[in-house]
Amino acid sequence: REWCVALPKVELHAHLNGSVRDSTLLELAKQLSDKGLIVFEDVKGVIMKNGRSLQECFRLFELYHILTTDHDTVARITKEVVEDFAAENVVYLEIRTTPKNNEAKGMTKRSYMNAVIKGLKTVEAVEVMLFDSNLRTDKTLTSTPMSELGGDTRKKKIYVRLLLSIDRRETTLAALDTVNLAMELKDQGVIGIDLSGNPVVGEWETYLPALEHAKELGIPITIHCGEVANRKEIQAVLDFCPQRLGHVCCLNDDEWKKLKSSMIPVEICLTSNVMTGGAPSLELHHFADLYNAKHPVSLCTDDSGLFSTSLSNEYYLVASTFGLGKAELFQLAQDAVEFVFAGDEVKKSLREVFKRAEKELK
Ligand code: 5GP
Repeated sequence: REWCVALPKVELHAHLNGSVRDSTLLELAKQLSDKGLIVFEDVKGVIMKNGRSLQECFRLFELYHILTTDHDTVARITKEVVEDFAAENVVYLEIRTTPKNNEAKGMTKRSYMNAVIKGLKTVEAVEVMLFDSNLRTDKTLTSTPMSELGGDTRKKKIYVRLLLSIDRRETTLAALDTVNLAMELKDQGVIGIDLSGNPVVGEWETYLPALEHAKELGIPITIHCGEVANRKEIQAVLDFCPQRLGHVCCLNDDEWKKLKSSMIPVEICLTSNVMTGGAPSLELHHFADLYNAKHPVSLCTDDSGLFSTSLSNEYYLVASTFGLGKAELFQLAQDAVEFVFAGDEVKKSLREVFKRAEKELK
């Protein structure tokens, strides 16, 4: 397990509100309960409960959003989430989050994102590399020894990029707003679009115009695919050919073949899929099939808070379940560099990070 923590890692599928520390959620719940807005004991039970069905997760997100959706709290949770990933040697992190309009809180999608970006800028525990311009000013990264990136005595560095999520509950217009916002914020760390939200809600045709708009604008896209067996939508998603796919749980034989010939990288979320029933067990998870077929895959947490996991733990689970050794785990972590949405300069720096780490870890 310690080795998995020391391993530099790339996280490509982490939802902001699903990655919040339990302690922060409990603190926020206590504050709302003191104001008489919720009953703390009820909420505590829900937050601390283990094992959740997919539909329970989406009900839980309703609660999380009540607790976290004001500007200051959004900034706070963003800061903490980055610090938590950096603490376990994640060297590149794509955080995805749904920009939210909330009139009661004076919040627009834009002001929500401003709060997220503010949160990134207040991180102190690690150095956040948010802009490509960091690369020009930062001459030290490629010469920084691994012990600084991976050790805990000096300030670590982490690349952070943002993906804006379209929630399946949204209208076409709201989804288009999110894509336009991503374009507006492309110099502020936003580099992609995600489609997520409750998979039994909404229709593909509703988001398609926004996804096509993103494609025309050249914004990379990742899509939650096959969390439920919606044949029509799985086909449509595979035909759309996004840059990456999340989950790919409920594919039939034909879809499986189509996925494999597409070579679209898949964000694998082991714990999440097993907990929500997308995979029958760790042992029977489709990771093994994709890995053996040499399909591009990357291990991810999905919702480290909600599912009480960490990226290091996901690597450990792969080792303990499928018998991968250190060299194979290292390769798996390193391969993920090629699937990041950030540009070539960032990839180049990340390849250096892995090259240096190889000597210490293999
Ligand atoms: P947020 O976007 O509010 O920062 O993060 C929480 C949101 O991410 C949820 O409301 C939901 O829309 C999305 N999300 C988190 N985990 C999952 C998941 O496992 N599957 C899907 N489809 N959406 C998810």
